Amino acid sequence: MIVNRGIVTDNPTVAEIHLPSFRENVRKIKSQIGKCRLLAVIKTNAYGHGTGKMAMEAVKAGADRLGVTTVQEGIHLRQQGITLPIHILSSVPIEQADLIVKYDFIPSVSTASFVIALDDAARNQRKKVIVHAKLNTGLNRFGIEPKDALSFFQAYYHLPHIEWEGIYTHFSHADEGDWKRTEDQFNLFIDTVNNLETNGFFFPLKHAGASTITLERPDMYLDMVRPGIALFGYTPDERQERIFPLQPVLTLKTKLTLIRNIPPGSPVGYGGKYVSAKNEKIGILPIGHGDGFKRSLSNRGEVLIHGKRAPIIGTIALDQTFVNITDIIGAKEGDEVILIGSQGKERITARELANSIGSNVDEVLASLMQRIPRKYILN
Ligand SMILES: *Cc1c(COP(=O)(O)O)cnc(C)c1O
Repeated sequence: MIVNRGIVTDNPTVAEIHLPSFRENVRKIKSQIGKCRLLAVIKTNAYGHGTGKMAMEAVKAGADRLGVTTVQEGIHLRQQGITLPIHILSSVPIEQADLIVKYDFIPSVSTASFVIALDDAARNQRKKVIVHAKLNTGLNRFGIEPKDALSFFQAYYHLPHIEWEGIYTHFSHADEGDWKRTEDQFNLFIDTVNNLETNGFFFPLKHAGASTITLERPDMYLDMVRPGIALFGYTPDERQERIFPLQPVLTLKTKLTLIRNIPPGSPVGYGGKYVSAKNEKIGILPIGHGDGFKRSLSNRGEVLIHGKRAPIIGTIALDQTFVNITDIIGAKEGDEVILIGSQGKERITARELANSIGSNVDEVLASLMQRIPRKYILN
């Protein structure tokens, strides 16, 4: 029996979150970065692991700050009693300035309209709002352009209710290991910040690196790093797995709900995208792309049953998936099925699923819907 947000269910599908592995990943990262600050990025439902619980764990494991991307996620953390600094790492609608001030979030500032809205909101609430400026050095998502930075701060640095605690950038090609571009972006960032400081505009906390920089480039740490996916046991790229081994935190499992024997030539599932070649035994799993188990894994992925790989066959439906269990002797209804994780000597990682659908680990994990109960394994 699983308790999920107060609702008691017997859902056969569950995401088990192994907290000791999470703690071990944080410990390794902390020992890697030494005195540099750790901003634990737990955006997007903590990459599928559950924001609330993972925030508490990150705090206990020694994160200095937390990072999310929406004001809603931040409010959820405050309501749980988290008092650590919480950064909002994306651009948000200026209408949310009041909430940002109310909950003491640290927003990322890149436009005049937003910083003016924040200053107004802070004045109305008789507060100061701590902000970090975001510089665009090549990702071109959002950020102050380096060439406009000086005039921007000449105009807005002295707004009375704004405290410029930090300045940062976010790289576009670090995960790919494109060090030439990444170093160019880093140098552009440093040159811009130096020029600002020469002109009297100071930012005590400077930061640039996410997981890749945390794992590979101590020379770009500056005052703080912002790892996300690495906390959850995956390196952004496969090349880093040997350099910096981490422990995947999430196991996705379900149960065989039904077994059927089908004769040769039977089309299986919507559109008959799989047709049996011989007498085959198929199993039905109560999970589908409505759970965030990617439809693109249709006829591609595999699952583990009795420690053996069983191929996914046919088109994955909203709530159900077919697997071919002809070769899994003794498989019976109710047996455990691992979609991500290990069983016996076999292991399927989120990386394997990502590779087979041309995606990345972030997408595979963060897609897992809230309706899948999260079960936290404490030790
Ligand atoms: C998502 C994000 C991170 C974390 O990225 P990972 O590659 O998962 O470590 C860090 N900084 C910013 C601004 C982000 O948006």
